[in-house]
Amino acid sequence: MLKLDNHLSGRHFLHIPGPSPVPSRILRSISYQTIDHRGPEFGVLGLEVIEGIKKIFQTQQPVIIYSASGTGAWEGALVNVLNSGDKVLFYETGQFANLWCALSQRLGLNVEVVGKVDHDTWRWGVDAAVIEARLLKDTQYEIKAVCVVHNETSTGVTSNITAVRQAIDAAKHPALLIVDSVSGIGAAEYRHDEWGVDVTVSGSQKGLMLPPGIGFNALSARAIEVSKSNKTRKSYWAWDEILESNKTGYWPTTPSTNLMYGLHEAIDMMMAEGLEAIFARHQRLAAACRLAVDAWGLENQSLDQNCYSPVLTCVAVPEGMDADKLRKHTLEKFNLSLGTGLGKIKGKAFRIGHLGDCNELSLMAALSGVEMSLGAMGYKPKASGVIAAQAFLA
Ligand SMILES: *Cc1c(COP(=O)(O)O)cnc(C)c1O
Repeated sequence: MLKLDNHLSGRHFLHIPGPSPVPSRILRSISYQTIDHRGPEFGVLGLEVIEGIKKIFQTQQPVIIYSASGTGAWEGALVNVLNSGDKVLFYETGQFANLWCALSQRLGLNVEVVGKVDHDTWRWGVDAAVIEARLLKDTQYEIKAVCVVHNETSTGVTSNITAVRQAIDAAKHPALLIVDSVSGIGAAEYRHDEWGVDVTVSGSQKGLMLPPGIGFNALSARAIEVSKSNKTRKSYWAWDEILESNKTGYWPTTPSTNLMYGLHEAIDMMMAEGLEAIFARHQRLAAACRLAVDAWGLENQSLDQNCYSPVLTCVAVPEGMDADKLRKHTLEKFNLSLGTGLGKIKGKAFRIGHLGDCNELSLMAALSGVEMSLGAMGYKPKASGVIAAQAFLA
């Protein structure tokens, strides 16, 4: 047996911004016996999942489902619509934008990174005017795609994707819009079709409440068209074979059968709650969490009032405090997992996830664990964040 929860009594409070807790309904569905992925039962399941997932992305177009983590889906998006040497514009919002950009470079794409001028880009959402200005200068249309992260999980900043689409249109530029919403889908408002996104990249283990292991590419008609003349060598990630198989509810290779059961269940649960209600619940929990951070006298990593993430809150700790020490304390003392600071803010920030299967009391438990641990770190909170959040939620 794996010794995963020896000696820690009570439940584990998983408050990292993904993987998020998996509801027991989903865990039970995943535990069904694995069936023949070419048999008649699977075809029915496959068709339901292929149709159902479109509602989550709010699209009429196909959504590719890969057995892969979000990183695989990043690669899948790029290799289907871009050719080696193509120029791609990335907007730096944090660690995930940087990792995706590094992946693109390894694929041989010619990347250019832009960001909000004279700002710490890791504390602000995408400034669409910067993208528009850059595209206007690209009179030869060398830039083939604009890549942005919708919900930057390393900083707790959610960018306005409509504004990015408008910037591309205002510049009358033909670049594709490719968006990472790995941690946004199913938690933060997202409308693939209405927002005019060409490819949306996502994963299973964040807002969708599933274990890791599924990656998504939601497509546009234009992305499919562009993919048809794409020259990049690929096999596993190629959309054409998958789209063909999907017509009858199957995949060219063995899909992750049990995660498909889980995805089917997750879609049912999300449709029952309603997407708008899900988005509102996340906004409400995030607002409560921010009130707690303010009460403690700590700083939100996001300085962009219009872009606070409903998915997670990234808390910058004061000089001299080690955020990872605090996280170690919350885990060992209270069985509470918080997200570590990533990249250049490692040790300087921690992240509180409030996504997926999260409610008022699970958030309150996490806030209580943080507050008690702040005291143990020798930090004297200005006021009780727990009381502030509670008053708001009540
Ligand atoms: C989690 C995450 C990823 C990476 O997904 P993996 O499943 O770890 O490969 C990419 N982008 C964002 C914004 C994420 O939050």
